[in-house]
Amino acid sequence: MLSSRLPGRSRGCALTRPATGAGRTLIRVRTQRGFVDYALKRRAVLAEVMRGQTGVSEVCDASPYLVRAAKFHGTPTDVLCPVCRKEELTNVFWIYGDEIKHLAGSARTPEELERLAARVGEFDVYQVEVCRTCSWNHLVASFVMGFHGDETAPPHSKRSARNRRTAAT
Ligand SMILES: [Zn+2]
Repeated sequence: MLSSRLPGRSRGCALTRPATGAGRTLIRVRTQRGFVDYALKRRAVLAEVMRGQTGVSEVCDASPYLVRAAKFHGTPTDVLCPVCRKEELTNVFWIYGDEIKHLAGSARTPEELERLAARVGEFDVYQVEVCRTCSWNHLVASFVMGFHGDETAPPHSKRSARNRRTAAT
């Protein structure tokens, strides 16, 4: 059942493109790097729930803040909630990092992430899926965004990236 949600199916989705076909909305843009997929962990948690080793209340514990973020800043998917099967999951993107200052710890839409990545050198993004019906929530992926990873960035940022590498060796 879970094979239909393997992350490879949605490879190549652009941030601003709506989710199409099967799979969750794993966003891929040129400024994105350090991608970590938590699909295996998710599968393990769901297997524990199915076996009764983990209570539903332990995994369906989205805070009101997270559910509200899903409502106002979330990205709809075509992935049915694996626990209640009553509605499609919503992806919420949380951002963290020193460079984004007061924005750290807030939820952003994919469009806002792209705009931010053009202005900020580096920030962390945590993609969380949420069911607004039963409050299931799980970390889907984490990655880094920002123009430091952009090959087409202005020359001065390329130079600073090279300096950092030199300093590291
Ligand atoms: Zn649900």
